[in-house]
Amino acid sequence: MAYTINIGSIRCHILSDGLHYVDGGGFFGLIPRALWEGVITPDAQNLVPCDTRSLLVESDAGLILVDVGNGDKLPEKVRQRLGLGDRQRRLIGELARVGYSPEDIDIVLFTHFHGDHIGGATQWDTPDGAAGPAIATFPRARYIGQRIDLADASFPNERTAATYITDNFRPLLEQGKLEIVDGPQRLAAGVRTDLAPGHTAAIQTVWVEDGGESLLFLTDAASWAVHLQRLAWVPAFDIMPIQSMETKRRLAHEAMERDALLVFQHDPQIVTARLSPGKRGPEIHAIISEPAHFDPSR
Ligand SMILES: [Zn+2]
Repeated sequence: MAYTINIGSIRCHILSDGLHYVDGGGFFGLIPRALWEGVITPDAQNLVPCDTRSLLVESDAGLILVDVGNGDKLPEKVRQRLGLGDRQRRLIGELARVGYSPEDIDIVLFTHFHGDHIGGATQWDTPDGAAGPAIATFPRARYIGQRIDLADASFPNERTAATYITDNFRPLLEQGKLEIVDGPQRLAAGVRTDLAPGHTAAIQTVWVEDGGESLLFLTDAASWAVHLQRLAWVPAFDIMPIQSMETKRRLAHEAMERDALLVFQHDPQIVTARLSPGKRGPEIHAIISEPAHFDPSR
């Protein structure tokens, strides 16, 4: 579902490429199910829904789209397993709902190179796919990613190989559309990135700041609201779990200092929230919530 939010004079939209389903152990790692099922009830196969949100910023440097979801290049079997349903392009539909088409996007920012964040960056040239190299979904856009994360994606190991799909980024690199950066960047007036290592080595968050207001797009630095609330809850996906905890400690501090509006990318229930100091650590105050739902027809 699409939401429009103003941060000072900067208009932002939260869009979604839809829900897919992952094993609860992925997001909750070492945390016993008896604890995390208080946050979300898994289905009979222990699966929990995972949203794939993007942030669209109407900036003075043009339209900036942060992450682009799973997209539609995955084989039918994989899409069925993930619960991605038919090949409707949800992100593109939501983009249309807020008045834009893929041709309008000026910058696509990759928070990191995992498939559920950049799969939608490219698409097959033909409807049934695999007839040739994937092409850019956003034809005019300059795509931006971090150098270290591109290196990890280009040379994956046994543990990371499944999420790094070369068709998501290599065609962009070969067509000169992918700009590689190193460290925090200023993308436009009031729009900047920051590194938040833990989930990957160089994952980047996005800050939108104007007129004394702030928005923080957390990406997988805190995938769900509860991850920011409980620093020890670190997803099994994270390649540097102890670093994730320290990154979250810093982000929670920065968010409270600025009273930032937080956007959670994967939380199926809490879309945005603010943080305040609590007795046992930061407390979450949800602003936009959605009911968690399972699709029984899956
Ligand atoms: Zn993710």
